[in-house]
Amino acid sequence: MRYPKLRELKEAIKAIIKGPYTTKFPYEPHVPQEKFRGKPEFYEKDCVGCCACAEVCPAKVIDVTDDTKAKPPMRRLVLHFDICIFCGQCQASCITEKGIKLTAEYDLALFNRNEAQVKVEKELLVCEECGKVIGAKDHLYFLARKLGPLAYGNMPLLISASGELKLVKPPPIIGPPLRRAHIFRLLCPRCRREVLLEDIWGKKNSEE
Ligand code: SF4
Ligand code: SF4
Repeated sequence: MRYPKLRELKEAIKAIIKGPYTTKFPYEPHVPQEKFRGKPEFYEKDCVGCCACAEVCPAKVIDVTDDTKAKPPMRRLVLHFDICIFCGQCQASCITEKGIKLTAEYDLALFNRNEAQVKVEKELLVCEECGKVIGAKDHLYFLARKLGPLAYGNMPLLISASGELKLVKPPPIIGPPLRRAHIFRLLCPRCRREVLLEDIWGKKNSEE
């Protein structure tokens, strides 16, 4: 028992001379360590709206809402940092590696929890036939850029990329029923399949 007491005394004297080991926050600003994981932030320019971060979040704190009635249709990602566990999985899984990052911000106390949110909004591309969501516009651009010439094998990617480069004007919409020319429109996989089946087998067979 004698030695531990001496050790504590030594620590106490050291603390009197050098000051306390703990930080003086909130009386003085605290500088977090280099790899400190604080409040996550979206970076609008680098986020493409793919939702990978929401998929991997173990605490399910990122809500994704697709508003297909808005003009233009929009995807909204809302991160509730009051229930975030600061694990960093969102940052590690971000497909652009820069769309979401954990900052060094640690002083997150608020009077109203509803204000504990960070958001990002992305324009959506929807099927021109049935109105279903195909994906976020920036996500398709991102994939087309990443795939390069391989993107020519996928019509929605090709149409999105061509639109971005302003190489082609979108062809006029030919009204229903679905026709072969519609394969050059922005369609969801189901509608594209119907167009192709109709073209090969006729309307009746495509519905079977
Ligand atoms: S840090 Fe973890 S808990 Fe917080 S939003 Fe990212 S994945 Fe979810
Ligand atoms: S780009 Fe990154 S931050 Fe944006 S939705 Fe995808 S994973 Fe989340």
